[in-house]
Amino acid sequence: MLVLKFGGTSVGSVENMTNVKNIIKSGGKKVVVLSAMSGTTNILVALSENIRNGEVAEGNKTLDALYIKYNETINELLNQSDLKQEVGNYIDGVFDFLRSCLKETYSELLYNNIVSQGEFLSTFIFSRFLIQEGMNACLLPALDFMRIDRNKEPDNFYIRQNLNRIIDGIPPADIYITQGFICLDADGEMSNLERGGSDYTATIIGSVINAEEVQIWTDIDGFHNNDPRFVENTHAISDLSYDEAAELAYFGAKILHPQTVMPVRKFDIPVRLKNTMSPESYGTLITSKIHGEGIKAIAAKDAITAIKIKSARMLNAHGFLKKVFEIFEKYETPIDMITTSEIAISLTIDDDSHLESIVEELKKFALVEVDNNQSIVCLVGHSIIFHEDTHKLFQVLQDVNVRMISYGGSNNNISLLVHSDDKLETLRKVHNYVFN
Ligand code: ASP
Ligand code: MG
Repeated sequence: MLVLKFGGTSVGSVENMTNVKNIIKSGGKKVVVLSAMSGTTNILVALSENIRNGEVAEGNKTLDALYIKYNETINELLNQSDLKQEVGNYIDGVFDFLRSCLKETYSELLYNNIVSQGEFLSTFIFSRFLIQEGMNACLLPALDFMRIDRNKEPDNFYIRQNLNRIIDGIPPADIYITQGFICLDADGEMSNLERGGSDYTATIIGSVINAEEVQIWTDIDGFHNNDPRFVENTHAISDLSYDEAAELAYFGAKILHPQTVMPVRKFDIPVRLKNTMSPESYGTLITSKIHGEGIKAIAAKDAITAIKIKSARMLNAHGFLKKVFEIFEKYETPIDMITTSEIAISLTIDDDSHLESIVEELKKFALVEVDNNQSIVCLVGHSIIFHEDTHKLFQVLQDVNVRMISYGGSNNNISLLVHSDDKLETLRKVHNYVFN
């Protein structure tokens, strides 16, 4: 079986939904994972903020506009009156629920319930559209099998058991449609795999059903060698290894949720990135195979905070790093980059929700400096740290202000930390040096 995931743009308009239908209509059984229609999750996040801030009128206004958009979509998409009625009723139910949330007090659970509605809407609408088009499709409710454990990791045993049981227990279909992103937590409450999590849903499903391949369909021809929003003349990379793709996704290439390749790499299930608007393009194929050498791609991640921790006593003082790391551990804040010298350590975090408490604790035994608005520019390629051209990178650095460099942490990644104001210049300069 294949697993195909379609992102928000792919289900964001009637034209694109029709493209998706044409892509999935032939070629054997498949599981189709859908995101919310583009823009919807952002609007639902904004709605939760309205609730948090007591802005009921704002929230109602937002919902009115979204309600109109959904009704316009189904009017254009569906022409059988019974299906249109059924989907119309479903949409009404979702919006009644969302309006009722405006009277509630904000909580994380309320937020999770609100943001899940986008995937409920897109999958319901799309499944009825396929039925209208005479396809043998059925809806698999993600909450009947997707669950995370207390560490927020997918509960693979539970997912495998339940998904296979459900598929075996219903009349066979050609296309099983399910919601990306949403899941239950270990207590059975509504939860999700974090923003962009539909990609992750697709590979989790791929791994538990032992899919031949997982395809992630978006609105771009796969991973590019640099960010096409900021740099001209980028091109899609045809082949990447799991390691390379993981580094790129983690360090900012927006196309893939950072965890996406984790579930499938150990089973060697290929992940193919494809463009819904241009299905004939090759895209990017991610497998365990290594292709090409040297620097393959550059990506950048914003909103990074750098922390410099200085100890007069680090010289010969063992246990200093342990003390530092324990504080980050306590506040469940992952560290991304790290460099050390004899008397100081610099590190970066991208989640600064506990920054104040962390700094306060560090200050008990060290001098601490915090720099906000930093960006990680990350260069990725198989064994690039050994490649003969890589040393030339340091010449480029004469022209950009680099706050930290991480070289050799992994063979496949070199990371530079720069001020976010210098990010574009750094991306372009490194791009010219590496690819032109
Ligand atoms: N709809 C969710 C989001 O916008 C999940 C996804 O698109 O992957 O984050
Ligand atoms: Mg996405």
